[in-house]
Amino acid sequence: RIVYVNGDFVPEEEARISVFDRGFLMSDGIYEVTSVLGGKLVDFPGHAARLERSLNEIAMPMPMEAEALLDLHRDLVARNGIEDGLVYLQVTRGNPQDRDFAFPPEGTPQSVVLFTQSKPGLADGAAARDGISVISVPDIRWGRRDIKTVQLLAPSMAKMAAKAAGADDAWMVEDGAVTEGSSNNAYIVKDGRIVTRQLGSEILAGITRAAVLRFAREAQMTVEERAFTIEEAQEADEAFITSATSFVTPVVQVDGATVGSGQPGPVARRLREIYLEESRKAAL
Ligand code: PMP
Repeated sequence: RIVYVNGDFVPEEEARISVFDRGFLMSDGIYEVTSVLGGKLVDFPGHAARLERSLNEIAMPMPMEAEALLDLHRDLVARNGIEDGLVYLQVTRGNPQDRDFAFPPEGTPQSVVLFTQSKPGLADGAAARDGISVISVPDIRWGRRDIKTVQLLAPSMAKMAAKAAGADDAWMVEDGAVTEGSSNNAYIVKDGRIVTRQLGSEILAGITRAAVLRFAREAQMTVEERAFTIEEAQEADEAFITSATSFVTPVVQVDGATVGSGQPGPVARRLREIYLEESRKAAL
């Protein structure tokens, strides 16, 4: 694989970052994941806008203009011959000096890394066809989940708990309500109404979420942005998740209880279809 590191495109084994980089020592960084379908980037403007917001919330500037970032993404996709897959963008506060809690002086170069993952058939996997199972876990993350930091230990542990329980993913629960999935936004459908948690510092504002809710409203579906419980999910007609890596993926089991018919439901299937069709059309 060819990766991008601070201005250079290099084979992955030649990429180098300081051991004092704050991304490594303090999880002091932001990331974005953009999917690639047919060699083109899905929802890139949304990801660039969220990157800028996340950086701003932790007092970091954009490392370059969004247009230059788009060029880097496209360049890396081409260099790695990615048809379907993902591009990861990692921006940390850098700092090649020494360990210190205080931020380094303004103007200290940030670290900017991009890498790709090839995922042939990303849009037509078994998860979309059959649906996935989730378990609930306590949400032990910090209080600013609206910022997409590289601090991913809690969701990694949630994923491991799911795996140990024989499930595909975890839904995190706080104060009795679902916040979101380990790396995706969570939804239920009851009596034709799509329910997903309202935005706030408790969850990440998914780029896929924004697009899917827009398409749902355009298709005259009813959307309710509010918190819901695991019990509600177990009694729902359907459940699903959204993210750049899963698009819209049905959830057919929650904490061992079958959701609806146990098969992917019509709302999730339709939203996935619309999302993929529109995304392919608008991809850059
Ligand atoms: N919530 C969390 C915690 C995530 O990690 C992700 C994936 N980045 C999402 C939601 C979904 O966001 P997006 O649709 O932008 O991929």
